[in-house]
Amino acid sequence: MKHPSAGPGDFERRLERARSIEAADAAAQPLAFLVRVLTHQLRRSAEPAVREAAARTAEDALPNRLVQQYPLLDLTSAAAPIAGETQAAVEELGDAAPGPLREAGLSLVARSEMEQRELVEAWLDDTSLLDPRLALWIRVTAGPILELAAARSEPPEKEEWTGLACPLCGDAPQCSVIVEESGAFLQGSPRYLVCGRCAGWWDFPRAKCPTCGEDDSRKISPYAAEDWPWARIDVCEACRGYIKTFDLREKGAMKVVPLVDDVATLALDVWAHEQGLTRQGLSLAGV
Ligand SMILES: [Zn+2]
Ligand SMILES: [Zn+2]
Repeated sequence: MKHPSAGPGDFERRLERARSIEAADAAAQPLAFLVRVLTHQLRRSAEPAVREAAARTAEDALPNRLVQQYPLLDLTSAAAPIAGETQAAVEELGDAAPGPLREAGLSLVARSEMEQRELVEAWLDDTSLLDPRLALWIRVTAGPILELAAARSEPPEKEEWTGLACPLCGDAPQCSVIVEESGAFLQGSPRYLVCGRCAGWWDFPRAKCPTCGEDDSRKISPYAAEDWPWARIDVCEACRGYIKTFDLREKGAMKVVPLVDDVATLALDVWAHEQGLTRQGLSLAGV
């Protein structure tokens, strides 16, 4: 599909958006960190070793798609090159990271190569298996390889996949997006889930919980944000999980880039956590 708003590997567009948001509140520091992260990822994504690793990771995506073997990317081959990226990321970004995150980064690079690789393998298998701060570092280091691999792969059509996990890399969604009507008669505006680690988008029903799969629309309630008419959280009564949804049809939402605006709207997560709600896929703000 065509990404109306910064798909996999589009670090430049995300960087531009992160720089343009003026955040005077609690999101200012996380956004400044995001700018540093994206600058690092943009640079790493030009490295031949990263591009080769991405090509290998994407190599079987098409044959996998033909036999419906998900996730489509070859995550096993991605583990070693991702682990090889951690040192550079922590060296470059450690100083800019908030205290506890910096410590987690230092503890990560203090481990042996073998241990780092095992952590990456565990994270590729299921991000929730790791301490969230370690997981955040691995996500930063893995971004260029997984996103470039995703950008080389054709994601499945909605007739092929509307599952709860990313069809490309298998991660849980980071947030959700509603875009302008596709033009298909009486189909309504499509909704996509957005992956936080490969930045892929995939089709998903409008009134369904992406955490537990609940599809009784009466159990899903939207809570709108006053400050951002295009951002809301969708709360599921069945699992007490929530997902942030960006409605790109709203006025002023033209420039919204989900993975960036997720950080900028951190106040929504703070509110949700106060209500005892949980989300999958932490934002780069760490909530
Ligand atoms: Zn993904
Ligand atoms: Zn649910």
